[in-house]
Amino acid sequence: MPVFPLLLLSLLALPAAAEAVSDGPYLQFTPDRTAVTARWVCDDNIRQQQIKLDLAVPVICGFNKPIRVDTQPPAGWQFQSPRFAAISDIHGQYDLMLQLLQAAGIIDAEHNWRFGRNHLVVVGDVMDRGEQVTEALWLLYTLQQQARRAGGALHILPGNHETMVLRGDLRYVHPHYLQVAKQLQTPLPELYSKETVLGQWLRQLPLFIRINDTLFVHGGLSPQMAARPESAEQLQTAFQQSWGLTKAELANTDLPQLLQRSEGPLWYRGYFSSKHNTPFDAQLLRQQLADFGATQIVVGHTSMDDVYQHHNGLVYSVDSSIKKGKSGAVLHFIAGKWFRSGLDGVLKSVPAAPAASRQTND
Ligand code: ZN
Repeated sequence: MPVFPLLLLSLLALPAAAEAVSDGPYLQFTPDRTAVTARWVCDDNIRQQQIKLDLAVPVICGFNKPIRVDTQPPAGWQFQSPRFAAISDIHGQYDLMLQLLQAAGIIDAEHNWRFGRNHLVVVGDVMDRGEQVTEALWLLYTLQQQARRAGGALHILPGNHETMVLRGDLRYVHPHYLQVAKQLQTPLPELYSKETVLGQWLRQLPLFIRINDTLFVHGGLSPQMAARPESAEQLQTAFQQSWGLTKAELANTDLPQLLQRSEGPLWYRGYFSSKHNTPFDAQLLRQQLADFGATQIVVGHTSMDDVYQHHNGLVYSVDSSIKKGKSGAVLHFIAGKWFRSGLDGVLKSVPAAPAASRQTND
């Protein structure tokens, strides 16, 4: 064998050089909370700056817009709006999220809010799986401020994947982020600790919200939840307190445990399958929704190939498998009617789910 092909063969056999990593910013409050320490990884180099809270965090690398730190907590959980939209389970697919929101007229070509006084709900699971979680989180963070200034609102609900990452379950994290954490010499969950801007923001998210008579929650309300005596406000508070509990503490307290487990609002799939949950009971769900002042519910978490309605419009599912990075859909409510839009932005009616569209692997 001539030398050249041999050399070529040995070169091909070499492991590919690891791609240089860029990501950020990661913002941690200073102990007196008057500034943040901002860190980026830019082509494998750590960049760090301290920035006063009244100044914008500049673009160094990673997310491509300046960031204004805003520590204002979410404004309650009940809203009224003649028009709203919902999207869910982004899972780090930032580019696809941008395309869908742009096509739906919710953001403009520069990725700014153009939805006016309307509301957008992101029904959980922005984190895990994909490679652009940081960009997705900061864009939503920025849009939330723009929406508020425009008299509209962007609501973000927690999904089970937010609780997994923040509580240190890293099974679904893209390897990119393990690389970033290693370079920053910080365990990944600490990059989202309650001393960080995103960590504090994520821990304040409401477990559910209601717009008009539509309730939004990541997984759904299970019959086990129906049996709870707590008010909606008490459930919100218990959920927020559950962030601070260790695994052992969770196991000893029944409500926080329910909120974090498979019959809880972030994990439940019983509207679509009775494989892991108690069989679906429409009458019970109607009663449950009435307790929250709602007549229908919008959920993410269970992946399908589009946005669908189920059980004669009692349930709308909005996890349209954006996680695959290829296509997805947005649910719209416009003056009393439901629509969906995809990458072409055309509004179409929301069909009942065909049985074959159901998956359960979130
Ligand atoms: Zn989920």
